[in-house]
Amino acid sequence: MLPYQPSAPAAPPRVATLDADAGRARALGQSLEDMGFTVRTALTVDGLANLVDEWQPHVVVIAEAAPGVLRAVRAASQTAQVVIVGDTPPDRRMLAAFSVHGWASRTDPTERLLMIVESAARRQREVAGLSQQRTGLQRILDICPRLNQLRTPGEFCLVAMEAFARTLDPLSTETSGIFAIQTHRPAQVQYFGSGRWARVTGELDLPDDVVDAISRGLSDKAAIVHGDGWVMVAANGGDHARGAMVIDGATVPVELDELCSVFGNVLGQALANIVLFDRATLDGLTGLFNRAFGLQRLLETLSLSARFPSSTAVLVIDVDHFKQVNDRYGHATGDRVLAGVAQTIRSCCRDTDIPIRLGGEEFLLVLPRTDETAAGVVAERLRRAVEGWRGAADGQVLRISVSVGVAAAEAGDRDALRLVERADDALYVAKRDGRNRVVRAG
Ligand code: GH3
Ligand code: MG
Ligand code: MG
Repeated sequence: MLPYQPSAPAAPPRVATLDADAGRARALGQSLEDMGFTVRTALTVDGLANLVDEWQPHVVVIAEAAPGVLRAVRAASQTAQVVIVGDTPPDRRMLAAFSVHGWASRTDPTERLLMIVESAARRQREVAGLSQQRTGLQRILDICPRLNQLRTPGEFCLVAMEAFARTLDPLSTETSGIFAIQTHRPAQVQYFGSGRWARVTGELDLPDDVVDAISRGLSDKAAIVHGDGWVMVAANGGDHARGAMVIDGATVPVELDELCSVFGNVLGQALANIVLFDRATLDGLTGLFNRAFGLQRLLETLSLSARFPSSTAVLVIDVDHFKQVNDRYGHATGDRVLAGVAQTIRSCCRDTDIPIRLGGEEFLLVLPRTDETAAGVVAERLRRAVEGWRGAADGQVLRISVSVGVAAAEAGDRDALRLVERADDALYVAKRDGRNRVVRAG
């Protein structure tokens, strides 16, 4: 496992005591406080029941071993460890029935009682840690399928941060955090923030120690870093860190470090899958679907439209005289123009539509549940948007246009190639008739 910085020490354990003898209670309280415990004392059984209920102490020391007292303590807390001080040994069955941690006789030296309280506090921490680990692991298992279904890094990061915050604190409502994803090592990092860090994307306007923790996580120098009110968990995808997540407003006890690294590994694996999926399905220049995956999506859309009858439309979009852009301004400018066209296509369609880069300066937009007339409207909107687009090159304003061919398939028609061919033929007509226009296959 990777090294990590140890957590800040936990708050001192809380001990509640019950003793009708105020003088004796004070003396015990003093000794316990000298050992570093925080102590509160009740003089009556009712007082103790209220104290345990409200304060949830780690250990309860009672000077009266009656079943009624133990029942009251257990009703108020299932997890507190109970220690009894008495004149005579308590009944063993009663000790077992109320899971009493231990007992000391009044005649024993105080040291012995203090040792028992100390071991009770340790036991309580272990039990609480184990139970938190168990529920934490259960939460991680629960969230795994969902994380593995997410396809976009942004969505993934937000769900991961929320799930992690909930694992640490099931009652947490607003999660503030930042997730850094390393798409290409070491330079390319994308940031996704939530809560009060929602705007921190692109440039890291964060406290220096947080930025430092993220870079330690991304460079495999630390799996977990505990900060002042935040924690960084590296998302380790097997061979190296794929990302680093910082959750704000979370104090993580050292007992949960292992749970955190399990979570980090789960996130790392899921992230590795997302990056692989991205590389296999997206076009590197424009971020649109690549040809192979896009045509696959078209086939799926056509089979769906057979099952839930609706027509499917496609637009084949080709940049006009693109060769001249390359020739005049260079290939790099050409690339920027293609990215701009892709962005414009995205902004002209719905989330459920499927934009694809077929290759070169040619794009395909699949519009599920759309007929040819409606597709013609989308095409015209797109044509105008590209016409209005302005780029800059060599100090000059760059403008371009596109020609678009539109075709639609009736419900049940699964011939994807024929559909694209018909749109392509329409595109050819648009080019022949002067470019910068939309032609429907009709
Ligand atoms: P038309 O209006 O008839 O479509 O003319 P055109 O110049 O757009 O068409 P043509 O097919 O002659 O040229 C397409 C050009 O696109 C040629 C090729 O160098 C360029 N191209 C293809 N892929 C890329 C790319 O990824 N980046 C850049 N910058 N250029 C590309
Ligand atoms: Mg062209
Ligand atoms: Mg072309």
